[in-house]
Amino acid sequence: LSAWAGVPAAPADPIVGLNQTFADDPSTTKVLLGVGAYRDDAGKPYVLPSIREAESRVVNGNPNHEYAAITGDAEFVKLSLEFAYGPDSAPLQEGRVAAAQVLSGTGGLRVCAQLIERLPRLTGSSQKPVCYMPEPTWGNHAKVFQDAGVEVRRYRYLDSNTKTTLDYEGMKEDLLGAEAGSTILLHACAHNPTGVDPSPDQWRDLSAALKKTDLQLFFDCAYQGFASGDAEADAVALRSFVEDGHQILLCQSYAKNFGLYGERVGALSAVCSSTEEKAALESQLKAIIRPMYSSPPIHGARIVKEVLGDATLRAQWTGECKEMANRIQEMRSLLREGLAEAGSTKDWSHITDQIGMFAYTGLSKEQVQKMRDESAVYCTLDGRISVAGLNRDNVAYVAAAIHAVSK
Ligand code: PMP
Repeated sequence: LSAWAGVPAAPADPIVGLNQTFADDPSTTKVLLGVGAYRDDAGKPYVLPSIREAESRVVNGNPNHEYAAITGDAEFVKLSLEFAYGPDSAPLQEGRVAAAQVLSGTGGLRVCAQLIERLPRLTGSSQKPVCYMPEPTWGNHAKVFQDAGVEVRRYRYLDSNTKTTLDYEGMKEDLLGAEAGSTILLHACAHNPTGVDPSPDQWRDLSAALKKTDLQLFFDCAYQGFASGDAEADAVALRSFVEDGHQILLCQSYAKNFGLYGERVGALSAVCSSTEEKAALESQLKAIIRPMYSSPPIHGARIVKEVLGDATLRAQWTGECKEMANRIQEMRSLLREGLAEAGSTKDWSHITDQIGMFAYTGLSKEQVQKMRDESAVYCTLDGRISVAGLNRDNVAYVAAAIHAVSK
């Protein structure tokens, strides 16, 4: 008998599973709008020229392949923190931000979730580790926290009537009612899967309201620069919370904005109240990371360091990142126009109001399924489409397919 004979198959990840169903579809006009990766106007994966240049500089520098420190490349971490918080940020200038290089966004989330899980034991509290996340949120969020032993609860996010806009009052009410001592997960910009963000005024209001609570705020920043095309603008929410004195946790990913998906480049950080606290927290981060994967990969971090640390290359990257964001915004407009041209009289303004890689169409599970069956247009069952999968050649076809199932 095999040692693994009793093991049942685990359910496939819904997005990865979608790729397989798409690959098996014989349609010649099929369109995949599931994948969370940027595609150029020809539907191909895209390597930013600034990243190619940085990579060739890295390789030409003949670097060695020694281990990184447990918390990664110190220069990379410093540049990452300046990128997110802004170089003038008070906690950075005062040397009280604990940080580590981590395995992209997911790896950072996992390490932070473990820190949250350990915190009560470390501080001698009897508090149960709990994290509140938006309903809906990125499909992996709950699993990452649950695997780390953190209880997951939800807060309202989407308006239950429109299903495509923010229920700000509901969100605020749920957060203010959250159990004291819990963690609140917030998407720093370009909320996934909805593309719906609070406005700058709403963020400010939320920051002020949450100052009166005993909640740990945790920003997941997976799209800085990629959302609006302006990395400074995309960091406004998290920076305003830091300015208001919140001791946030932050996870940064370089997957989308630098196109470094498979290189697994990211950083995590925690704003502390003193340099002593920062040292203690970093030692705890090391205690989590060392038995988990020992140290992070070095290649991608070297590329990011090259870009962020060189003014000319950084300016080039800024322009190229903006081009990606612009192309996505243009596809949003074309999709909306295409829906009108296809004869839809519905209000599709949310398609252009939403931001980032994804649009939440408002299509039901049944409509999504019907669109797959009738037009071979594939998106996730929640009606989320990856706008990056649209291009000039397929956008009218997709608009007609959406109209056909929603009229
Ligand atoms: N957080 C959010 C909100 C995301 O959308 C993603 C990517 N889909 C991630 C984290 C993690 O991505 P990665 O691990 O590739 O950086």
